[in-house]
Amino acid sequence: MPLTGVVIVSVLIRNVLILSGSYNAFRGDILVEEGVFAGVGEVERDKSDVVIDGKNLAAVPGFVNAHTHAAMTLFRGYAEDMPLMEWLEKKIWPLEKKLKPGHVYAGTKLACLEMLKSGCTTFMDMYFNVEQIARAVEDCGMRACISSAFFDFFDKDLLEESIKRVKKEIEALRGRELIIPAVGPHAPYTVSLDGLRMSAELAEEKDALLHFHLAETEQEVKEFEKKNGKSVVRALEEIGFLNDRLVAAHSIWLSDEEMELLARRGVSVAHCPVSNMKLCSGVFRFRDMLKAGVNVCLGTDGAASNNSLSILEEMKFAALLQKIYWKDIEFKSEFVFKAATENGYRALKVKGGRIEEGHVADFALYDLNSVSFSPNHSLLANLVYSATNSVVYTFVNGKALIENGHFMGDAEKEIKIMEEAKKAAEDLCCKT
Ligand SMILES: [Zn+2]
Repeated sequence: MPLTGVVIVSVLIRNVLILSGSYNAFRGDILVEEGVFAGVGEVERDKSDVVIDGKNLAAVPGFVNAHTHAAMTLFRGYAEDMPLMEWLEKKIWPLEKKLKPGHVYAGTKLACLEMLKSGCTTFMDMYFNVEQIARAVEDCGMRACISSAFFDFFDKDLLEESIKRVKKEIEALRGRELIIPAVGPHAPYTVSLDGLRMSAELAEEKDALLHFHLAETEQEVKEFEKKNGKSVVRALEEIGFLNDRLVAAHSIWLSDEEMELLARRGVSVAHCPVSNMKLCSGVFRFRDMLKAGVNVCLGTDGAASNNSLSILEEMKFAALLQKIYWKDIEFKSEFVFKAATENGYRALKVKGGRIEEGHVADFALYDLNSVSFSPNHSLLANLVYSATNSVVYTFVNGKALIENGHFMGDAEKEIKIMEEAKKAAEDLCCKT
């Protein structure tokens, strides 16, 4: 019986290899009812809408991509081998000025497809035209935190106009089933301190999250300090920006004291190793962040600086980068896996990230008969270091969005999404 296209209330997966909360693998059953895990282990249940034989499958919590710009899939491979500021100013921003709603929709849909096919169930986006992002997310069935992005470029009028727009956009996102609204001031070098203070106040007023680029490059941190006479983290603390609503992408150039302050304020950090390496931004201090008690998540950043949206790849790069840079052979796969799953859900204040009763049923089933999982001495090590594209099913909120390896079980639907995105990219990048 196909899982997609019909209303399914319960799914029972029999005898599947389950990755536990302590990262051991055990065989058991999984019962999903009304969007949550209703039973894990031995499940006594005769009737279920759908029963899946899990003999050759591994059940793994869904990944959270905690920092991306989904529609930037359209710019994949468009501008290579440039430093961040030059890349933004000469290539990315001029193209973004030409973005139309249809481009954002097509690019976001392609991003959803790519993420779902690599076992990612939830993402935190920051981009323009949130209505189009929300429409694409809802059409694909994913869970997403959508941040309404803005820059004020230190201009009072532009700030006022932007805050008005962001307020309206957040109100329009509120109450939509799998969407979490966020305020998205871009970065300290594009948004004034007034703009950041107003963002924090708006997030509080609207009970939304905050999404922001923090300390991505050494140059940006030094320039901020020169201009303001204090570090960016100190300035953010003074305006009440640091709190548990905030997900701060990158956060590379921070002192020990600043990390401890982020931890005390409950800030989550989205580490994006591939983008940081590709743009030569620096090396994130993962172990020190954990020691300070910061909730570290993983993100891909946009496809323009990655160029993939696979959290599987991100876990591998994150672990390898820490090992080689700090000569830390004991840096464990658990650290990156936890960052990619439960820490991501924690940042978004969603009870998820583990295959346990009561958690949201966001998970993927991987093919144990694929090369990546043969042999399977350690399910965790295979996921972090070996898995490529072995996803058979991806479930979000108890619904199968990938079935038999394809979006809604239908390869034709995927081709259509890719064709539409290619057309949008051509329209955007090739027309002058
Ligand atoms: Zn970013």
